[in-house]
Amino acid sequence: MNLILLGAPGAGKGTQAKMISEKYGIPQISTGDMLRDAVAKGTELGRKAKEYMDRGELVPDEVVIGIVKERLQQPDCRKGFILDGFPRTIAQAEALDKMLGDLGMKIDAVINVAVPEEEVVKRIVNRRTCRKCGAVYHLIYNPPKEDNKCDKCGGELYQRDDDREETVRERYRVYRENTEPLIDYYRRKGVLFDVDGTKDIKGVFQEIDEILKKFAD
Ligand SMILES: [Zn+2]
Repeated sequence: MNLILLGAPGAGKGTQAKMISEKYGIPQISTGDMLRDAVAKGTELGRKAKEYMDRGELVPDEVVIGIVKERLQQPDCRKGFILDGFPRTIAQAEALDKMLGDLGMKIDAVINVAVPEEEVVKRIVNRRTCRKCGAVYHLIYNPPKEDNKCDKCGGELYQRDDDREETVRERYRVYRENTEPLIDYYRRKGVLFDVDGTKDIKGVFQEIDEILKKFAD
């Protein structure tokens, strides 16, 4: 079962990927982790990627695709995989299709965890982080017992720059700009499934699970 997971920032994509991975026994593959791993292991592609990263440049698609290809041939991917954070562009999606074709594989389902902008903003701008231990709270869903104070260590809570409203709206805008063409691309191929990401974690997983049952053997 070969999957791609799409979802706006704050859609809970990481949590869902972990739950799918546990239930179906397939690894969650994020390109960030893969790149770091290839660089750490000093593989040929890893060394190439590092040259670009050291210069502060984006790693070109052909290098990323090469690293993804190596990763998908690892024994733990025999039953399938969940791609998280890749592809990000149509060019990458096309390169991915070609590479999978070479390996005799294909994408079975693309799960789009959809959450409207206002909901994303509400989820993220209410986050507070402890300056001392990094614990994360939510003023509505998981408030600290005492205002502005970490339950665990008593540290001061603050709002990270990433969690400010204007930053969140900008990230959402960039996300939509990049992802909408991908959604169309996979919808045309008949492999796109929309999931209502405004439900709670369990509800979202139930929806995903219903879809995946059709592909699991
Ligand atoms: Zn703390």
